[in-house]
Amino acid sequence: MNQPLQDTRQISCADDYDPNSMPVDKAREVIARFLSPVTAVERIHVRGALGRVLAADVVSPLDVPAHDNSAMDGYAVRHVDLKSEADVTLSVVGSSFAGAPYAGTLNAGEAARIMTGGVVPPGADTIVMQEHVRAGDGKVTIGGGHRKGQNLRRAGEDLKAGAPALKKGRRLRPADIGLIASLGIPEVTIYRRLRVAFFSTGDELVSIGTPLGVGEIYDSNRYTIRGMLERLGCEVLDMGIVRDDPKLLEDAFEQAAAAADVVITSGGVSVGEADFVKDLLGKLGEVVFWKIAMKPGRPLAYGRVKDAHFFGLPGNPVSVMATFYQFVRDALLKLSGQEPVEPVPTFRVPCTSALKKAPGRTEFQRGILTRDAGGEWSVRVTGEQGSGILRSMSEANCFIVLPTDQGNLEPGTLVEVQVMEGMI
Ligand code: AMP
Ligand code: MG
Repeated sequence: MNQPLQDTRQISCADDYDPNSMPVDKAREVIARFLSPVTAVERIHVRGALGRVLAADVVSPLDVPAHDNSAMDGYAVRHVDLKSEADVTLSVVGSSFAGAPYAGTLNAGEAARIMTGGVVPPGADTIVMQEHVRAGDGKVTIGGGHRKGQNLRRAGEDLKAGAPALKKGRRLRPADIGLIASLGIPEVTIYRRLRVAFFSTGDELVSIGTPLGVGEIYDSNRYTIRGMLERLGCEVLDMGIVRDDPKLLEDAFEQAAAAADVVITSGGVSVGEADFVKDLLGKLGEVVFWKIAMKPGRPLAYGRVKDAHFFGLPGNPVSVMATFYQFVRDALLKLSGQEPVEPVPTFRVPCTSALKKAPGRTEFQRGILTRDAGGEWSVRVTGEQGSGILRSMSEANCFIVLPTDQGNLEPGTLVEVQVMEGMI
């Protein structure tokens, strides 16, 4: 069901990194090396193609525009009939409106009334704006100074017949859908959706709809993960909560890997729990456990379970989202066939809060980006940055990305922000 996965056996041994302090960029780089995108394709109507990834170039069957046409309301003329310094008067022999072209050919001394988008009649080579003429009684008088070919849009100027309008690997946006329709193409070839199975691990977890016992918490990770996956256009397979029990976990991993291209779990990768998950996954595939030099989201497991790609995210709700945004997003976009996958853009703005930051790891603090009355943007932190405080993610609209060597920051310092909306 899945395509053959590239051999991941080298993940753990090929690199000279320290798995106890894996830099964010290094982890991204290692993950990127082992991603094998979906290959199966589907043909669908362009109407349903928003957010899907093209599996073949969309080649234009037409010249766009299809005909030479006018960029202005005015008169189509033959440039040879005009004088560079003096007025000339031409006979207006007809009109060319968008959708109703002039049937004849312009002869010497003739002009045609033309509107924006109107087809330029054979013989005409220049459009004179209506503001630059005097017209009346079937005549038009035009002064000097007009350039040959002015105000005219050439056939094939935007796109030549046979040229690719959109390339394979493109994730289709509304403008792309419109562009495809403008070429008269009803169907496109796209990759099938990436199938992602996910489950939460933990004896303390309870599904919503069930009363909480002492020491129990509601499983929120499956909901944030589902949301992020849906934004990425994945087909989701929610496998529920799995207890911290080797047999149950093994069954869940087997089922998930058989049903999906990618398996994502949360919890069970922190110190203590990781050891037994590690043993189990050693049997089913090849997985490395990293401690990423980042906050939040230190522990992360990555590799292969059977034929599926695997991401073992931490349990803390904020860490789940931070690791998903920083590692899983790009990987899933690439696995969906998208090419290229651009990193989420960042930009620099002043931070109005003082920030606590220890050097030695990348931090992704939750920020609120706002614009003041004068139109200037600035960011502030959401407050407490504990990795269990999901409210901080909900309040935030950006990450404040603080690089490894950075220490504490005074209010007013420029910081790098990564906007969450649009990221997924
Ligand atoms: P773990 O990584 O399994 O040790 O979990 C770390 C913390 O995250 C613990 O406080 C867990 O209770 C919490 N946690 C784990 N899984 C979930 C989940 N699915 N939803 C909400 N909190 C979770
Ligand atoms: Mg746990």
